[in-house]
Amino acid sequence: MKLIEKTVKNTSLKVVFSLLFVTVTLVSVLIYTIFFNSYLENQIIDRMYKQNSIITLNTKEYVDEHFQASLNIVLGIEGFFDVTGNPTIEDVENFMGEMNEETNFFNTVEILSSDMITEYVYPHDALAIGIDHSTESELISLIYPHTYHWLEPQISFSNDSLTVSMVYRTEDRYIITTFDLTFFEELHSVFSEVNEQKEMMILNEYGIIIYDSGSDKELYKMRYENFDKLIPFIDKEGTIIIHVNDVESVISIEELSSQNWYITIYETKESSYQFINQLGRNYWYLIMIVIILYIVSAYHFFNIIGNKLKKINKSLQKITTGDYGLQIEGTTYKEIQGIVNEFNKMSLALKESRTQLEDLAYKDKLTGLYSRNYLRKITDEIIASAPEMKLYMFYIDLTRFHIINESYGYEFGDKVLIEVANRLNTSLQPMGTLGRIESDEFVIVCGSQHEPESSSKNIIKIFDETFDFDLKEVKLTPSIGVCNYPDDGSTFDELLSNANIALIKAKSDKVENFAIFNIELLNEFKRKLDIEISIDRAFRDKEFTVEFQPMLNIKDESIRGFEALSRWQHPKLGRINPNEFIETLEELNKIHILDKHTLKESLKQTNRLNRRYDKKFIISINISGKTIIREGFVDMVKENLKKHNFDPTCLELELTETVFIDDYNKIKQVMHELSSIGVKFSEDDFGDGYSSLNYLAELELDTLKISRTILSNLKQNVNNRILVEAIVRLSKELGFETVVEGVEDYEMLQIFKELECTYVQGYYFYRPMGYLELLKELDKKLK
Ligand code: C2E
Ligand code: CA
Repeated sequence: MKLIEKTVKNTSLKVVFSLLFVTVTLVSVLIYTIFFNSYLENQIIDRMYKQNSIITLNTKEYVDEHFQASLNIVLGIEGFFDVTGNPTIEDVENFMGEMNEETNFFNTVEILSSDMITEYVYPHDALAIGIDHSTESELISLIYPHTYHWLEPQISFSNDSLTVSMVYRTEDRYIITTFDLTFFEELHSVFSEVNEQKEMMILNEYGIIIYDSGSDKELYKMRYENFDKLIPFIDKEGTIIIHVNDVESVISIEELSSQNWYITIYETKESSYQFINQLGRNYWYLIMIVIILYIVSAYHFFNIIGNKLKKINKSLQKITTGDYGLQIEGTTYKEIQGIVNEFNKMSLALKESRTQLEDLAYKDKLTGLYSRNYLRKITDEIIASAPEMKLYMFYIDLTRFHIINESYGYEFGDKVLIEVANRLNTSLQPMGTLGRIESDEFVIVCGSQHEPESSSKNIIKIFDETFDFDLKEVKLTPSIGVCNYPDDGSTFDELLSNANIALIKAKSDKVENFAIFNIELLNEFKRKLDIEISIDRAFRDKEFTVEFQPMLNIKDESIRGFEALSRWQHPKLGRINPNEFIETLEELNKIHILDKHTLKESLKQTNRLNRRYDKKFIISINISGKTIIREGFVDMVKENLKKHNFDPTCLELELTETVFIDDYNKIKQVMHELSSIGVKFSEDDFGDGYSSLNYLAELELDTLKISRTILSNLKQNVNNRILVEAIVRLSKELGFETVVEGVEDYEMLQIFKELECTYVQGYYFYRPMGYLELLKELDKKLK
């Protein structure tokens, strides 16, 4: 049992069923062996023996009765003669007639005188026994002279039938009776009919066969060959089994009470097997039926259970994919029904808790607006139910909102956000569905009647008014990205991601605070991503190189030095504009790596050139504002100067004005430290932005580089020319050298010569070029 329990626990039902199957079969075989082969056999033999004993006893009684009857006749006759003395023949006839009527048993009665003369014969027409002298004398010789003696019946076989003769001697006469054994025939027919398998014999004390139900043995003449084997069992209790002609037989034996005769019945043991075999066959039929029933019910059971389990399994799979609330039908199997009930309960509970979660997920706790999940659900539902409808999505982001949190705390930030939500809600309610999807990001999904441009402007207007709380006042600027269904996406998430691309554009746009998505924006965005992910590899594989653009003395066109300009040959995208990759590097805070690389390369190459031409060329290197304010910048520059044994006065760092705005004091400090060892500084792109004159006065600058953009229409635009003249003059008066860059033609060169600019740089003389090309050019010019 333990084993089965263990097996059930550890294995599949099929194995359990197979195991039970094998067990049932083995038990059946065992039962068969024990019950049929030993127990049942003994039982049957015992039963056979008892049955035979009963038959023997009955037969004994029956035979005894007959002999008793014949004795009675003889005694009756003797009494008759005693009473009547000398009866007449007639008297004897009458008496015999009466007797015979009573018994109808004996054949003949002969009365002889003491000297053996036949006195009476009954019936009167019967032949006197005395005629057959041999038989008669044989009979009489058996009688002891002068004694009353009752002879044992003598059986003779004549005229095809058995005859029993009895002799009784008195003083005066012999009474001889004969009767046949027809009653044996009666017995025989009854016995054989009922007992096909049994054989009955009557044997005398010498074993001579007197009666045989098998009737194949010679009666009264033959001795039963197994008689000696039987003798020891006479008067003994219990089953007798002896070998008769090498066959085991069950025997019962009984002695007749009137004489020394024996009745024996035997039956071969084999006959009992017929019964056992029949029973055995029935047993196997029964076992077969049980096994078939077992297989059928097991199959049925597996089918039902298996199908149910499959259903449960499928439903579980569905549940794991979020199909909550699923119910499975009931079953008649109690255990499975238990699982089904629990499953159904679990499924409902999951559904309920998901509904609760959805409720939680659909509302933004802070502002009470809808959540991203709700917007997604409602948008996807609208698209699914009315796919032909046009929708707009407005993605609103508050520029630099984190500064409000950082400056005034999160509690204040929350109040602002709630107010933003209120303003958007009250003034834009009819516009569509409004939600907050992240801290300072709001989304509106609305119908096509809301034209993107004017709607964006309306939204921006809401932020014109400042946000005042706790005596603090803040101004917010939103950026908005717009896209539409079906052109820009077919699901909420697709729309959101494209609106976000437009939003990124809006944030960098210098003119408008909103942008409408289009495919170019997407391509731009993808390109930017491509560039971003290739940058680390580009540094590792040394894809960044440096080109040099000479700067010339405007008077004699001698070479002052070179501006170092970074180049990136992207393996997939080709040559990428420096403005593009520099912007990305700045966003990723990796620009300092490039600047350091350019510095090192430039120092190395310029050193070579200076040695080769025995000159003191000045190398001008563009440094990003993010690089210069980094910890250790000064040390890095000094280290590299030292490493390349480079004259600091031949190094010029170009900074744009925006750099100063960001971290003025820090930069002033850096400039001071490097200026003190001789490094030069130039303000790049002067005239491009605000061009604050403060910086010119306060910072340790050496050179001004006039922005290429204000040169563009110098020839046509008189004002521009006046501006440039003023810059050159100012520069000169402050003691700076002036570099004009972007000079592309002779005319422009003439203008700057007239203005007495110091240096010139531009395509008119040289384009930026690689080191080897530069060598060639310098060789041409200087050698
Ligand atoms: P920039 O400092 O204003 O550099 C001068 C730009 O004008 C260069 O563009 C140069 O190729 C271009 N240029 C020179 N002469 C002419 C001309 O006659 N006509 C026209 N149309 N253009 C001329 P480039 O090489 O594309 O560089 C763009 C900007 O990238 C540079 O502007 C500089 O600010 C930045 N940059 C380049 N290399 C580096 C670097 O290593 N580090 C940093 N931080 N910035 C760099
Ligand atoms: Ca420059």
